[in-house]
Amino acid sequence: MGVLNELHKSSIRVSDIASQYWCERQMEYNYRYGAKTISKEIKEGRLIHEELEGEVNVPIILMPKSYPDFLYKSLYTSYMALNALQTNKKTREVQIYGSIGGYKVVGKIDQIDIKNNETLLTEDKTRANHNIPSEAQTLTHKVQLMVYRKMLEDIKSGNYTADNFIRAYRTSEMKLTEEFIRQLDALSVDKKLQSIDAIAKRFFGIIPLLSRISDSLHIRYINQFTGKEIKLYKFSYDKLEMQEIITYVLKYWNGEREAMPVPEEEQWKCKFCVFFGKECKAWWPQKGLI
Ligand code: SF4
Repeated sequence: MGVLNELHKSSIRVSDIASQYWCERQMEYNYRYGAKTISKEIKEGRLIHEELEGEVNVPIILMPKSYPDFLYKSLYTSYMALNALQTNKKTREVQIYGSIGGYKVVGKIDQIDIKNNETLLTEDKTRANHNIPSEAQTLTHKVQLMVYRKMLEDIKSGNYTADNFIRAYRTSEMKLTEEFIRQLDALSVDKKLQSIDAIAKRFFGIIPLLSRISDSLHIRYINQFTGKEIKLYKFSYDKLEMQEIITYVLKYWNGEREAMPVPEEEQWKCKFCVFFGKECKAWWPQKGLI
């Protein structure tokens, strides 16, 4: 767990894996030196996500006071969202947990639909203009969705269960705060369900009941100002490709190689990078060519 420790992380986020396909070094530097700014685009993107979630899911007001409270809230809201999926055929913002190469992996699926008796995953990406995203951008989004698809399948097929989660996060040792328990009482959450282990069992127990997970994965590009769809990109899940992705990213997390800068033909990415010429000088001497 050397690299994770160095970056002061306890788990890998699915978005970290996706970012490795944009620039692995940039992903690492965001942890080492801090993400420099939360850009206006990111803020607008978050707003759109919240709006879309509000349209589908019943809001659950819970104010966590500690890490165990936070973990409970995440499992509870995701369980409720999956519960609603059975009747509404659509749900949003489902937090998902799993394991890749022995590392804890966590992410949030934007949207799950039930269509033609299949479970369909969609990732929303907001854009500041109406242009169709570049291949390099689409690749990172594609990787993100493929990892979600794999993690959901792992739970559905019993390869990653509530017991795996409970052991990995040591939740049996965790206690919810008194104040949080009062909030759960106010929501009439059954006393028997007021522990992380109990809610984890519910969450991991509902996923195997989902219909077959579709191999067709969707990325929806949305204009952040108008909220309108720019393009719906569809692609097929490929198990072999997924395995290659895992092998590639794990070499970094296992410390078998250092974080890679972008290759020569992708130097153009450096122009948009806050570390360019400061913490990262990989392509700085060539700056005139970018
Ligand atoms: S300057 Fe370029 S190579 Fe370096 S971290 Fe940024 S994008 Fe990656």
